[in-house]
Amino acid sequence: MFEKKTRKEDIKMDILVINCGSSSLKYQVINSDTEKVLAKGICERIGAGGVLKYRPAGGEEEVYDYDMPTHTEAVKFVLDSLVNEKTGVLKSLSDIDAVGHRIVHGGEAFNKAILITEDVIKAVEECNDLAPLHNPANIIGIRACQKVMPGIPMVGVFDTAFHATMPKKAYLYGIPNEYYKKDKLRRYGFHGTSHSFVSKKAAELVGKPYDKCRTIVCHLGNGASICAVENGKSVDTSMGLSPLEGLIMGTRSGDIDPSVIQYIANHYNKSLNEVITILNKESGVLGMSGISSDFRDITKAMQEGDEQAKATLEAYCYRVAKYIGSYITAMHGVDVVAFTAGIGENNSYIRKFVTEYFDFLGVKVDEKANEPMHISDDTLITTSDSKIPFYVIPTDEELSIARQTVDVLDGNK
Ligand code: AMP
Repeated sequence: MFEKKTRKEDIKMDILVINCGSSSLKYQVINSDTEKVLAKGICERIGAGGVLKYRPAGGEEEVYDYDMPTHTEAVKFVLDSLVNEKTGVLKSLSDIDAVGHRIVHGGEAFNKAILITEDVIKAVEECNDLAPLHNPANIIGIRACQKVMPGIPMVGVFDTAFHATMPKKAYLYGIPNEYYKKDKLRRYGFHGTSHSFVSKKAAELVGKPYDKCRTIVCHLGNGASICAVENGKSVDTSMGLSPLEGLIMGTRSGDIDPSVIQYIANHYNKSLNEVITILNKESGVLGMSGISSDFRDITKAMQEGDEQAKATLEAYCYRVAKYIGSYITAMHGVDVVAFTAGIGENNSYIRKFVTEYFDFLGVKVDEKANEPMHISDDTLITTSDSKIPFYVIPTDEELSIARQTVDVLDGNK
């Protein structure tokens, strides 16, 4: 069992945030009082060599080739880099007060962040079937940290938890109810930490109390989802049982008629799993454009006159706009719309194409404000007389995880 540390108000807390994938481990150390990032980095190619990238605040990125057969070695190298005499940011490992772990799928078991215990890990393992690519990796990361940092409290922060407030009408699929009752097959939604972080900021920016504000958050990254946040609660979101549903993404198809799966399987002699892999890894804007999953490449091709790139971006924006429209209906209106994540923060074309769909509601793009491709601060991109304000609000999932980690420890005092 963990020796439970609690927060003493006069003592700063340094939180190690871990986001563990099957062969990678992203990390940040965040001071909870200043909310400053002390250092961040990533371990890549775990199990097939190993590279550690490390950047202390204000310093240069350092890259090391290390032997990382498992995540346990990766965690050890991360900790070594943090206390390294030359560029480390901590005096000793005991400076780490807690670890916040991103966990992708909490199923119906978790509606908020929680102190990790053996029972919690068991319950997360029970959700493995719902997120076979993500959850096992998240658990590996937790186990590796437990091994290397015994006694440090660990908190699990779930991508799905923010959406636990979705009403049944939004999360039930139109399939026989026994699949929900027996197997919990339903819509869950993801990117919860980002939707929560950005919707809070959006309410602040329009000067409304969070619990009286209707926000639509468009998290447009390589994975992308939209969320309707009504009075501080997620009431609908575009991803479902898995992160495959919803918007067209970098490599994922998003919404699709299931008959397409049957057709590809039958006509191209593919197994069900092979078709799902195509929908996850070879579809989206990558498959549609035949160019890249990166919006920079597709936008450039469109500017150079590539018709398929143009058609791809139009289809992408059309789907985003349709979701925004449907969520305006779901909430009987909207007070603010926010763009965030890699594309939301870095692609003025996408923001403009999407926002212009709402001209019929009196929305007007502020061309000058929206012009920079990269927007790094909270920025209003519609005119002051626009009937609905659209903002760019940079997301910060790591900070959100660090905040939730501190909240859990405070709650456990
Ligand atoms: P994410 O998954 O949030 O990192 O988003 C990935 C997508 O965001 C890619 O398609 C990129 O085109 C876009 N993106 C991320 N960073 C930048 C950047 N600095 N400049 C332009 N586009 C970016």
